[in-house]
Amino acid sequence: MRATLMYGAGDVRVEDVPDSVIKQPTDALVRVTASCICGSDLWPYGSMAPADGPARMGHEFIGIVEATGSEVTTVKTGDLVVSPFAFSDGTCAFCHEGLYTSCEHGTFWDMEPYEGGQAEAVRVPLADGTLVKLPVAADSALMPSLLTLSDVFGTGYHAAVAGGVNERTSVTVIGDGAVGLLAVLSAKRLGAEQIILIGRHKVRTDLGREFGATDIVSGRGEEGIAAVRELTGGHGTHAVLEAVGNMPAYEQAVGVVRPGGVISRVGVPQYEDAPIGFGSLFAHNIRLAGGPAPVRAYIEELMPDILNGTLEPGKVFDATTDLDGVPAGYQDMAERTSLKVLIKP
Ligand SMILES: [Zn+2]
Repeated sequence: MRATLMYGAGDVRVEDVPDSVIKQPTDALVRVTASCICGSDLWPYGSMAPADGPARMGHEFIGIVEATGSEVTTVKTGDLVVSPFAFSDGTCAFCHEGLYTSCEHGTFWDMEPYEGGQAEAVRVPLADGTLVKLPVAADSALMPSLLTLSDVFGTGYHAAVAGGVNERTSVTVIGDGAVGLLAVLSAKRLGAEQIILIGRHKVRTDLGREFGATDIVSGRGEEGIAAVRELTGGHGTHAVLEAVGNMPAYEQAVGVVRPGGVISRVGVPQYEDAPIGFGSLFAHNIRLAGGPAPVRAYIEELMPDILNGTLEPGKVFDATTDLDGVPAGYQDMAERTSLKVLIKP
């Protein structure tokens, strides 16, 4: 079968690899019908050392179950299923608390060396705890939106939930990538009245407005901070949803959070050390929240809004390709000529 491998920074190839097969009684074999490239794939695309490669790529996918191990009970051959970007047993203490990304027996797809979503097929460990059946056909027009349940919509939603967003909350979203835009949609869904989106790419911020952003701020650094403060009576917002992951984004979050507010991070941090002391968080009782989104916890909650047409998170996809076009898709996303690329293997 064919699969996507990253050999190093800027070097993505689609190659023949050994077929994925059932290995454990709890596995399912899924033939991928829709997958995509993630903004987080761009971090290794920008910096991965060849010594760390080649790495199988892709952690967001929908597909049809082709076979199941003897212990799998919740999905069967022929089912159309969506996978979260981490697999989990659904039975350990952390899964019971909804923190599926800390599952004692699961891990992220990106940690699984011989499987990946940007491929023709995937062996899914812990299928019962991981996969969710979709009540539509594989050619449904809802496919782009349903695919966002595997990561970007659930991740944007997690940012809003971890940030405590509700009807009384003002919100700043940092980042106009797919996760930032869907954090806007999520904040809107949770009732936030003021949603300020920080982004510089007009096509994206226009989609942000469509998703519910009330204000757009395009300034970098201190300029952006000043603009948000001006929009909020000088105070900043109750919640800051940080969907980028680099230090300038964190510093901007500290700059625009209201006293007593929350910085909720879902952009994968590209730093270990960051200001948390008196002058940054402590003086004004600011809390730091967020982490890898346990998107498995949100799939059942968010899916009805997609099925009944209330929300269309799939609008973040602005390009579609087959496997052959995946390397170019990485390049387009890195150059920001594509927002998010859908793959039909
Ligand atoms: Zn678990």
